[in-house]
Amino acid sequence: MTTQDYDIIIVGGGMVGASLALALKNTQYRIALIEAFDFKTDQQPSYDDRGIALSYGSQRIFDTMGLWSQLAPYSTAIEHIHISDRGHFGATRLSAQQEKVPALGQVILARAMGHVLNQAMQSHSHLDLHCPRKVTQLHQYDDNVSIQLDNNAAITGKLIVAADGANSTIRQLLGLSITEQHYQQTAITANVTTDKAHQHRAFERFTEHGPIALLPMPDNRSSLVWTIKSGQEKNLLNLTDHDFLARLQEEFGYRLGRFTQVGKRAHYPLKLTQTDQMIQQRLVFIGNAAHNLHPIAGQGFNLGLRDVASLAEVLSHHPQDCGHASLLHDYQQWQQQDQDDVIAATNTLVRLFSNANPLLGHARAAGLTLLDLCSPAKHVIAQRSMGLARKQPKLARGIAL
Ligand SMILES: Cc1cc2nc3c(=O)[nH]c(=O)nc-3n(C[C@H](O)[C@H](O)[C@H](O)COP(=O)(O)OP(=O)(O)OC[C@H]3O[C@@H](n4cnc5c(N)ncnc54)[C@H](O)[C@@H]3O)c2cc1C
Repeated sequence: MTTQDYDIIIVGGGMVGASLALALKNTQYRIALIEAFDFKTDQQPSYDDRGIALSYGSQRIFDTMGLWSQLAPYSTAIEHIHISDRGHFGATRLSAQQEKVPALGQVILARAMGHVLNQAMQSHSHLDLHCPRKVTQLHQYDDNVSIQLDNNAAITGKLIVAADGANSTIRQLLGLSITEQHYQQTAITANVTTDKAHQHRAFERFTEHGPIALLPMPDNRSSLVWTIKSGQEKNLLNLTDHDFLARLQEEFGYRLGRFTQVGKRAHYPLKLTQTDQMIQQRLVFIGNAAHNLHPIAGQGFNLGLRDVASLAEVLSHHPQDCGHASLLHDYQQWQQQDQDDVIAATNTLVRLFSNANPLLGHARAAGLTLLDLCSPAKHVIAQRSMGLARKQPKLARGIAL
């Protein structure tokens, strides 16, 4: 069997791997993308019915990549965010108007994003899709890398980008270690309908049983992420729709009126994983393969897309050898701090708001009230959640590669 040679081999065609292939569309790199699931079927696990909150920064990245016009018809703007703590007074409100942006973010179904990204990859002239295929072997050399696929095909390249998710096969093939933290929590997701219009408001409500996030979607629907202690998910999953909505109503209250309908429920056990080595010889981990986060702040994909934008920019400066160690160090220097900061902030939120201690409850309520009164602090939080707090890659500043 002949060996196919490329510049860049992307392993994993989920949201992050596909976004990288598309971010590099205007470069000269010859790219192979290996994906385990057939793009033409509905089987790809990353593209399910969960709502993904895209930050304002992510929207700008997709806009510069020329993809926002295709994503926009499937998106719902977040104009306000309301953060509250059940059983305590005190709430914080963020608004697009205060931040002087058209929207704080956008919500899009993962399935719709998959559809747009997969369509866009079809017209990428120097991208070969190897799909459905899995990587079975990997060898790193001084001046190239080679992989073998499950049909025995061999592929070589200058750089491997592992975007193969939290259980990265590439990481396992290399026997690399990860830092792992089990939260003993499970997220239940579903799309729910309310009898009051959401008016483009997103809600984060902390309850003694775990945080509830509701993100605005079309037609008075909201995308629910309900985090509960692991082990209790069966109770909620086995309830009738009527009883499930009654429980949700009890926990969330009536800010959106009555919950009237619920779609298919799904559940995800939550843990943090972070690779101990973001870069290796001619190899880099991005997206969930590098960092898998708790969804409490809706930052996982947004961070993954910043990995994409930063890596694409570094790659656009080094056309001679795109797997060179200096390039990978430049990338690490750029993205490591962003990843560490987002992981630390997410962990603090999980700890602070999953703790039923009544003293902590009062402190949280006081904190939310103070925050609501303090515009500069609110601005800092809004900038962070919009993905604008750090040095912005070109793609996020509207500059094409
Ligand atoms: C409940 C929930 C809600 C969330 N909400 C938000 C949100 O609001 N905002 C946000 O920013 N993020 C959110 N996230 C996080 C977001 O879903 C992830 O960050 C994102 O899906 C990661 O994408 P990825 O491409 O890195 O990984 P994945 O989606 O896991 O994709 C990896 C891909 O690699 C492929 N693959 C795996 N192994 C191989 C192999 N050996 N060979 C070839 N291909 C392979 C897989 O088939 C898959 O397509 C949420 C997550 C959860 C669980």
